[in-house]
Amino acid sequence: MVPTVTRPPSVDKLARRSDLADLPHPIAVEVTREAIATDRVDSISSMSRERSRQMLTPVLNATGVLLHTNLGRSPVEVHEPGGYSNLELNLANGRRGSRQAAVGSLLATAIGAEAAIVVNNCASAVMLALAAVAPGKRVAVSRGELVEIGGAFRVPDVMAQSGSELVEVGTTNRTRLSDYTQANADAVLKVHQSNYKIVGFTEETTITELSTIGVPVIADIGSGLLDSACPWLSGPPPRWLAGEPAARQTLAAGADLVLFSGDKLFGGPQAGIIAGSAELVTACSKHPLARALRPGSLVLGALQSTTLAYLNRDGNAIDFWRLATISTTDLTKRAVEIVDRVKRSPTSPDDDAKQMTMSVIDTEGMPGGGTLPGVTLPSVGIRLSGDHTRPLRLRDRPIIARVDDDDTIVDLRTIEPADDAELVAALTDLAQAEAK
Ligand SMILES: *Cc1c(COP(=O)(O)O)cnc(C)c1O
Repeated sequence: MVPTVTRPPSVDKLARRSDLADLPHPIAVEVTREAIATDRVDSISSMSRERSRQMLTPVLNATGVLLHTNLGRSPVEVHEPGGYSNLELNLANGRRGSRQAAVGSLLATAIGAEAAIVVNNCASAVMLALAAVAPGKRVAVSRGELVEIGGAFRVPDVMAQSGSELVEVGTTNRTRLSDYTQANADAVLKVHQSNYKIVGFTEETTITELSTIGVPVIADIGSGLLDSACPWLSGPPPRWLAGEPAARQTLAAGADLVLFSGDKLFGGPQAGIIAGSAELVTACSKHPLARALRPGSLVLGALQSTTLAYLNRDGNAIDFWRLATISTTDLTKRAVEIVDRVKRSPTSPDDDAKQMTMSVIDTEGMPGGGTLPGVTLPSVGIRLSGDHTRPLRLRDRPIIARVDDDDTIVDLRTIEPADDAELVAALTDLAQAEAK
């Protein structure tokens, strides 16, 4: 007799179950196969929810870190109308145009540069600038600036990829002009110590001094502050910006090229900007790598919006600057109101001991994103007793909060006022779950 074999459940049938219906069928099949292989068929629906949560989705940033690397650095609104665009068409003469021309010329004006182009990120900008300006040539870099910015951007490695030769000069804490001149290099790269500080017995050479050497000076300022005077803000530049290099002033001081990220203090989409002398910017745009590193129309469109806001001196139109400059008085008002509304919502009052407590507290927000190390900006948050970060994170629109001393801190610095109602709903849910 042929032995009877228990047939495995049909993958296809399982994958069509209603609780997997939100996933496209091929992905539901993957989840189902995995559930069968790991003997977790009973958990298929929770596995499918987990799979959905791996997809990109908007979140509420309640961390108080304005440029949170895990949350996409600077928040950007995308107002792309969709469809075709004049990406590479010159509408005036009907001929083929450059995708860099429109945004490049706006950026150049905003920065006070002769020319500018856009690449994928600042790492690309460094690689392209070195490859175009100093191919196979000697580039002097201070030993205090051989930095690593998170995610494997290491200056020596990027330089090696560009084909230029790194010439280390000076020491970790002190590098003088004479160190650079003695190196007899063909170009100088100055890298902003974005995410660390060297304090004590230190000395660095300014851009003004470096510009006297007579070789191209490339400044990687990383963070992308456009102008240290912040003319797009209604008030004076915030104190927490002190000492941060700015693109306009770096060029004015004599750098030939300035390089920075689009999604740090610039407050735009992920991009790298190369601005400076027309000759060197053209050399960059003509280099074969430029093609490999060029952004698409979505990024250029978003960057154009950000640049227009700067040109219109409208900091409120740039999410990063709007959030960064909300007063703590306003944040406190909102926090008090949120707590009030949650407390007024009906929870079961019989067991006080179990109730989640909530209080409005002063917090310290951060610019973040590998900029301004150790710098904080005053902020306001709501302290919830207990660690609620998981239920907050697992909401349909995840709320990312932090834990401090076993309590949850929801920081308002990084929450748009329009999202306060959603916070009220989330905190009410937590309070009700706690009271059960
Ligand atoms: C952040 C940073 C980079 C890397 O920028 P990406 O846009 O993330 O590639 C490079 N250099 C400096 C100095 C930075 O601060």
